[in-house]
Amino acid sequence: MNNSDTDKDVVYSETIDFGDKNKAKEDVEEENRVIRGTLTRLEEESAVLREMFHSTSVELNNLKKPALLVADVVTCRSDKAIVRLPNGNKFYSYIHTEVKDLRPGDSVLIDQKSLNVVEKIDMGLSFDVEKFVILDKPKESWKEIGGLKKEIEEVKEVIELPLQKPELFEKVGIHPPKGVLLYGPPGTGKTLLAKAVANSTGATFIEVVGSELVQKFIGEGAKLVKDIFTLARTKAPTIVFIDEIDAVASVRMDNGTSGEREVNRTFMQLLAEIDGFKHLDNVKIIAATNRPDILDQAIIRPGRLDRLIEVGLPDEEERMEILKVHTERMNLQKVKLKELVAMMDGFSGAEIKAVCTEAGYCAIREERESVTHDDFIKAIDEVKIEEEEDMKGFFG
Ligand code: ATP
Repeated sequence: MNNSDTDKDVVYSETIDFGDKNKAKEDVEEENRVIRGTLTRLEEESAVLREMFHSTSVELNNLKKPALLVADVVTCRSDKAIVRLPNGNKFYSYIHTEVKDLRPGDSVLIDQKSLNVVEKIDMGLSFDVEKFVILDKPKESWKEIGGLKKEIEEVKEVIELPLQKPELFEKVGIHPPKGVLLYGPPGTGKTLLAKAVANSTGATFIEVVGSELVQKFIGEGAKLVKDIFTLARTKAPTIVFIDEIDAVASVRMDNGTSGEREVNRTFMQLLAEIDGFKHLDNVKIIAATNRPDILDQAIIRPGRLDRLIEVGLPDEEERMEILKVHTERMNLQKVKLKELVAMMDGFSGAEIKAVCTEAGYCAIREERESVTHDDFIKAIDEVKIEEEEDMKGFFG
């Protein structure tokens, strides 16, 4: 067989099937798409893992670092400062070059080993003051106050008007007081007045209790006062209500004890803060006390809390108004309010409120839905007995 025969035998009968080729191409493309998708997902996963790794190693490094001490700056020179730790120890420390504009009273972080100042802490963060005061937008309105007409007018004039229309004072050219002192027996509505004016002016209400400032926060009172006013400025318009101001601002014999010095420091800081803001700033102070007789006159000097408003026990007419406020939503049955008011001679607003609550309880105990005149009479007796027991407890 020669070559030409062989060539003849081989028959190239390949038929090109385009349908199969297209299918194969589509399959490959599909596979490609899947691979690309997987790749993108893997890349994303890897980025997430890298990020996790990074934050874990940062966290790990942070955990290995020794904690820094918090201290207060007492005095400072160009690159050195005297700092005081909370335990009272003082150190003369170097200030890190990156720490700028240090002033006495600032809070700083210091390195445990070298005791050098490494960071200044922002005032807002230095003391978590919001945890220690009541910060609120009160809901109490003028309508919820019975009686106290004159007192309400005065508070409106001294606190509400300057906050709402400062331009009026600028035009007339007078300085409204920076704050007021409300004084009178317990439960007569001093806090209520302060809350109502905060509500009517839309101001933030910061409530501080004087005795807590000096008892709970030993060593921190002055700092807390400073921080409260910084907070007040950031939340302005603000009403700072200081209840039991006498605990901080009473005349006392300087017996040289550390507790005494601490109260004095707190008081001095309070005066410095009051002096530090202007008459038309939108921060107002309302202080309250049951003991105006023991107050240090420095707090009520002109330019400070120089408007004194007495909030006394309600007379008969005022007791009626207070009783109406507190019985407004009660389901009463044949209750002679006038008769009750006459029986509550010498009661404060808080005691009148207590009578209403107690009368309500009498009805609930007997599974009634309405409160009767008798319930009120029992409640009045109850409140009188409680008051007498309190007095006995007080005077032995
Ligand atoms: P303290 O000196 O003990 O702090 P306070 O003078 O600040 O007392 P408030 O706390 O304002 O008294 O009053 C206690 C409660 O008594 C108030 O929440 C309110 O329900 C009631 N109350 C007092 N006075 C009045 C009033 N004039 N009208 C209506 N309610 C009153």
